[in-house]
Amino acid sequence: MSEKYTRTDFDKYMIPCFYPAPFIPIKGKGSQIWDQEGKNYIDLAGGIAVNSLGHANTQLIEALQKQANKLWHIGNGYTNEPVLKLAKTLVKSTFADKIFVCNSGAEANEAALKLARKYALENYGHNKSEIIAFNKSFHGRTLFTVTVGGQPKYSNDYGPLPINITHLPYNNLEAVSNHISEQSCAIIVEPIMGEGGVYPANNYFLIGLRELCNQYNVTLIFDEVQTGVGRTGSLYAYQEYGVEPDILTSAKGLGGGFPIGAMLTKEAWAQVFQPGTHGTTFGGNPMAATVANNVLSQITQELLLGVKKRNTWIIKRLNELQEKYNFLKEIRGMGLLIGVELAISWKNQAKKLINLAAEEGVIALIAGPNVLRFTPALNIPFSDLQEGFIRLERAILRLNS
Ligand SMILES: *Cc1c(COP(=O)(O)O)cnc(C)c1O
Repeated sequence: MSEKYTRTDFDKYMIPCFYPAPFIPIKGKGSQIWDQEGKNYIDLAGGIAVNSLGHANTQLIEALQKQANKLWHIGNGYTNEPVLKLAKTLVKSTFADKIFVCNSGAEANEAALKLARKYALENYGHNKSEIIAFNKSFHGRTLFTVTVGGQPKYSNDYGPLPINITHLPYNNLEAVSNHISEQSCAIIVEPIMGEGGVYPANNYFLIGLRELCNQYNVTLIFDEVQTGVGRTGSLYAYQEYGVEPDILTSAKGLGGGFPIGAMLTKEAWAQVFQPGTHGTTFGGNPMAATVANNVLSQITQELLLGVKKRNTWIIKRLNELQEKYNFLKEIRGMGLLIGVELAISWKNQAKKLINLAAEEGVIALIAGPNVLRFTPALNIPFSDLQEGFIRLERAILRLNS
């Protein structure tokens, strides 16, 4: 690019929904990134659990380029081969009978919540519309999903909001069983709460939710936007838990960096959406579906095993750092979705620590003011992990001094 762009241009021309880092990345390969100045970073964030196979993955580039020469978009008056392949693959490898394809996690959840309401209406009549969700959960930024999410600060200013949504404490089965009734329509839950601080659900909690949903004819929705597509060491986290939802939403890692979302469900729910009842212009376009197909083809048993090995490696390394610096209170998560809650003495310093880490050349995330979050590419080389944690240690030292 001949013209030079700077971080200042962000403040000048972009609506300030975000507060991006002072540097601007321009290139990535695998789990490394370079900025405008040529500075190198190890990427332990993976674009917030999106770049599941790293940056500039050779196979993804080839698949995308091949499809780019054939067909980009055709519209909903026609179907296309890549999306049919995607549907077949997801159906064959999960609990689902059918899928709906969209462009993001919020859209997948929006579709899921709408489907649950319509399913309840058609099967049980009016007066069964209550959505049960959990405190601190995150489901996206559309008005419906942000209201269902458990962080009121994200929805308060946008009223009037959709109604009949109840928030209960996460991992508290008793609270749900005390509250749920025949008027409840759906429960939506993240098997591992991501944005809210990386809290895995207890097994008994998900099993209990399944039983309560069966008992009260309530649709169980698993939001696997962050936990899906190999992130936990299984294709989807529900497979780790052995508890099947009625609807599952997927996005983030599904496109490996290309925008795509999907809602997976069983036949009884699928038939509630008929032509005209729900839709999307871009959803299921051949470009996005081609990339997702290629991502899924690379999520092999070997790759999933590698996710678990990397988890073990990271936990061990964190424990070594803990012995030296006593900086953490708890390590949570599964596979390559790892949260590190900082010790009381380091309270509210997560953001400061990742800023220092970026200065040292390693990118990580936070999940709330006290939690560091690591969501690297599922295939991050061990040598990059090694170097990344050396740089992270330098940041810890600086914060400590
Ligand atoms: C990121 C995320 C979403 C929202 O996905 P978008 O693609 O940003 O709309 C929804 N649910 C969970 C659990 C997420 O982590």
